[in-house]
Amino acid sequence: MSTDSSAPRFGVDLGGTAIKLGRVEGEQLVSRLEITTPHHAEQCLDAIAAGVRTLADGSPIHQLGIGVPGVISTARLQVSNAPNLEFLEKLPLVAMLRDRLDCPVLLENDANAAAFGEAQIGAGRGVLNFMFITLGTGVGGGVILNGTPFHGPGGMAGEIGHMYTGHQRQCGCGTIGCLEAIASARAMETLAAQQLGRTLSLKELAAAAREGDRDALSVFRTSGLALGIALSQVALLLDLRVFLFGGGGAPALDLLAPHALKEMAKRCFGRCASDFQLTVATLGNDAGIHGAARLI
Ligand SMILES: [Zn+2]
Repeated sequence: MSTDSSAPRFGVDLGGTAIKLGRVEGEQLVSRLEITTPHHAEQCLDAIAAGVRTLADGSPIHQLGIGVPGVISTARLQVSNAPNLEFLEKLPLVAMLRDRLDCPVLLENDANAAAFGEAQIGAGRGVLNFMFITLGTGVGGGVILNGTPFHGPGGMAGEIGHMYTGHQRQCGCGTIGCLEAIASARAMETLAAQQLGRTLSLKELAAAAREGDRDALSVFRTSGLALGIALSQVALLLDLRVFLFGGGGAPALDLLAPHALKEMAKRCFGRCASDFQLTVATLGNDAGIHGAARLI
């Protein structure tokens, strides 16, 4: 690819409902497109290729990076498991896009791509080792070690959403006790409905908690403690100190973090709450595009 740092780069954040595409120049996302995800392989890849060409507007496309929610094969050529995009599983995704755009294509898990975006120009800039966690419909994670995403031999590293946190709630993965089943944005809304007896969005729940509503505060205490249990295990295993949060649940981090930090200080011997940094990531919904565009 071009070594000119000002040359445009193209990144795609492929989701189950929307495809977000962006053109990045230097640190700026100069243009972006968002289209509904066609749930058919050829149509989906055609839509991505057409979107990238639109963003290129005649400029050469030196490289395309794409983040996909699923397990990426070790050789990073295809997606081996993608519950929300099953039609793409086990297809030669990289080759199919390369054929359409005639440029190198780099594939990455979406959480890893977002983590890499934060590492490059977001809240993780200058931090060699950290974990990025998305609190959304589920809970995803990407681990950055020595400045690059850590995949593991099967491409499944960072699945913090399915770590056991000691509760008895059922998770979508088929087991009980997962972090995702108690601390995703959706899980917090479910807890709120059970605790308060009415349906609240996470934003409304957070507002109620900030006004001192005891039931709303108790939801964040429950979810925050579970988060602390999961983060403790990550901290014990990898000695990570910095955890960045994205997704729809991130704006409620101030309500979760005190409980999580208390639990981490309790469970991580030799460390105290101030040793850890739990911070909202800075690139928001564009972290995946930024990261994909910068993949190497
Ligand atoms: Zn699970």
